[in-house]
Amino acid sequence: MHIQPFCFNPIQVNSYLLWDDDLNALIIDPGCYSNREKNTLQEFIQNNKLILRAILNTHLHFDHILGNAFVEKTYAVGSQAHKDDLFLLNQLPLHAQLFGVTAREICRQPVALLEDGDLVHCGNFTLKAIHSPGHSPGSLVFYCENEKCLFSGDVLFRESIGRSDLQGGNGNILFSSLKKLMELPHDTVVYPGHGPQTTIEYERLHNPFL
Ligand SMILES: [Zn+2]
Ligand SMILES: [Zn+2]
Repeated sequence: MHIQPFCFNPIQVNSYLLWDDDLNALIIDPGCYSNREKNTLQEFIQNNKLILRAILNTHLHFDHILGNAFVEKTYAVGSQAHKDDLFLLNQLPLHAQLFGVTAREICRQPVALLEDGDLVHCGNFTLKAIHSPGHSPGSLVFYCENEKCLFSGDVLFRESIGRSDLQGGNGNILFSSLKKLMELPHDTVVYPGHGPQTTIEYERLHNPFL
C-alpha cells in the first residue's frame, strides 16, 4: 500500500491518499478547499493514474470534509462515515464560517455508514474501521493490520489528543477510545488528522495526555 499525505485548507487537515500496485485508490478526509489544493490532488491522481474508488471520513467536522463535494463530483464516488456524526453535516456552513471558511458546496450524505469493526476493501488492501468516539460521537479510526498503520483522525495526535469540548464530545469516552488504540501493536505507524505522524509505542511513552 502506498500512502501520500496532503495538508489542506486553513485548518491544516491531513488528507491521505492510499493505493495498491494495481492503482486502486481511496482518500481519507479530503480537505482540499482552494482551487490550487483541488488541482494538487487532481494532478497527483492523474499523474499516478490512480483509480479513486472511495472516500472515507474519520469524522464529519467541517475541516475533514471540505473537499468531499469536489472529490464526489470529480470521481463519481460517495463517502463513508459513522452515523453518529451525521448531525454535523447540517452545521457544516456555520462551523466553517466560525473559522472564516466559506463552505460553498455542501457535501452529500454518505453512501455507506460504517460501524465498529467494518472492513473496507480497496484493491488488495483492507482497512478496519474502529469506532473511537469522544472527540465527536461518530469518530472512526482506520487500521490496516497488514501494513501496520493507523489513520487516527482527530482522536490521537503526536504528543496530543483530540479536544472533547465540542458538541457531542466527551472526555471520559475519548479516554476509553484512546486506551483501546494503545493496545494496537507498538510499531503501528499513526497518521493523524493534523500534524506529524507518530507510532503507538512513541505515544505510549511520550504522550502527556495518556
Ligand atoms: Zn475534529
Ligand atoms: Zn480536525
